[in-house]
Amino acid sequence: MTTPDEPLTVPAAVFGSTAFWRRLNHLAREAGHDEHPLMLVGHTEPTDRYALRCNRCEVAVVELLVDRDS
Ligand SMILES: [Zn+2]
Repeated sequence: MTTPDEPLTVPAAVFGSTAFWRRLNHLAREAGHDEHPLMLVGHTEPTDRYALRCNRCEVAVVELLVDRDS
């Protein structure tokens, strides 16, 4: 089980879309969190950072960076 060092950059237009969740679910599955309860949590500061957390393993599956300029 590994956590990528670099956050995944997501264009703001894609954030929350079906393709976005499909990608996150794919990443979670690859990281061994298949069928685990996942939760997207936003950082208070900076606000463009999010983390997809696994509630079962209590780890951040992937860190996300929302690109609002794209
Ligand atoms: Zn998990």
